Amino acid sequence: MSESFDIVIVGGAIMGAMAARFLAEEGFGGRIGVVERDTGFARAATALSAAGIRQQFSTPENIRLSRASLDFYRQFETRFGVGAGLVERGYLILASTEGLATLTANHAVQLAEGADIALEGPQALKARHPWLNVDGIAAGATGLSGEGWFDPWSVLGAVRRVGRQRGISEIRGEVAGFALAGGRIAGVRLADGTAIACGAVINAAGPGAGRVAALAGAELPVEPRKRTVFRFRCAAPPLTAAGPMPLTVDITGVWVRPEGDGFIAGVSPPTSEDGPADPGDFAPDYGLFEDRVWPALAARVPAFEAVRMAGAWAGHYDYNRFDQNALIGRDPAVANLFHLTGFSGHGVQQAPAAARALAELIVHGVYRTIDCAAFAPGRVGERRPLTERNVI
Ligand SMILES: Cc1cc2nc3c(=O)[nH]c(=O)nc-3n(C[C@H](O)[C@H](O)[C@H](O)COP(=O)(O)OP(=O)(O)OC[C@H]3O[C@@H](n4cnc5c(N)ncnc54)[C@H](O)[C@@H]3O)c2cc1C
Repeated sequence: MSESFDIVIVGGAIMGAMAARFLAEEGFGGRIGVVERDTGFARAATALSAAGIRQQFSTPENIRLSRASLDFYRQFETRFGVGAGLVERGYLILASTEGLATLTANHAVQLAEGADIALEGPQALKARHPWLNVDGIAAGATGLSGEGWFDPWSVLGAVRRVGRQRGISEIRGEVAGFALAGGRIAGVRLADGTAIACGAVINAAGPGAGRVAALAGAELPVEPRKRTVFRFRCAAPPLTAAGPMPLTVDITGVWVRPEGDGFIAGVSPPTSEDGPADPGDFAPDYGLFEDRVWPALAARVPAFEAVRMAGAWAGHYDYNRFDQNALIGRDPAVANLFHLTGFSGHGVQQAPAAARALAELIVHGVYRTIDCAAFAPGRVGERRPLTERNVI
């Protein structure tokens, strides 16, 4: 084998870069190599993300990961010399009568975790968000602090730069196979034939993580799911005295938030129409805008009755079809394979805390900051789903 690393990380976008960074931070003494096939990250979920960060989840574990990551992003400029572009304008999640019980139950979990979320009925919501049409709304939960969106592209660039300064190696190539011996990975084979010996592997391949796991003979229920993001402009944007609107999630599932001088919006397809994407298909589903996104926006925000679509892009969720939650930790079958994937639409916001936790597990053998045992990949084989009710 031509080269050798103590840990090889497959995928160098936000999860891979953060994992390398926190391994170094936690005192990992060995050599770290990050293998990335798309070094411009043109198709990485990280670059194509809507990059929202919220505390409005239904599971305490997800709230903890996002809250700890929020602290990291808030302090990003001090540590990395560039800002994370964090805009703390909150989330507004709306519920119909049908969704009220779930929103209320989620809110109780969020409050218990210290999240700053106001749950309000239609009248109070209208007073807080005068641009909102509250017809059909039973309640809404507004993040008063600690939620919003940020710029994962800047974050990725800064984390990689500091990683390189700390001796982390970046290798351009596609992992095409593993050399296995005695239930462990002994080496990585790249598509160009390069062989790399390694002590352990972290699978941070995002939507491709299921395929990477399969190369090692492991089963991981992670697959690409296509999501389209639409950009549009509005002549009279919905504004309040407090500033632009929060990231708003309608009862139809359509979400929208300000971006630059316009807005971005999207919606997940209904479960019956959702399925694994062709890994090479990044064509936006333009029809969704006319059929689902714009009608919902125009009904919920009267200012959006007159909008001009300014473009669209599509990216792939690293979708965990088992329970739509992250898979963090050691593979149950391959002893030196670790996963950091499956975030199903909430990955960029959780990357720092999740990667830190995994680095702690690898370096110290235990979780120190956040107990991520609930995210262990072994739960899939044991049929113990960690269900998140608030997947957007
Ligand atoms: C449209 C959209 C909107 C989203 N909105 C949000 C949001 O609002 N908030 C949020 O928190 N998250 C959001 N997400 C999810 C988030 O972007 C992802 O969870 C996160 O970026 C995953 O990071 P990653 O590094 O694991 O994956 P990626 O960014 O996809 O990176 C994986 C990398 O692995 C590389 N790779 C794969 N296979 C191999 C191989 N065999 N060899 C070498 N390299 C390989 C790829 O080239 C890629 O660069 C969104 C995603 C999309 C697509």
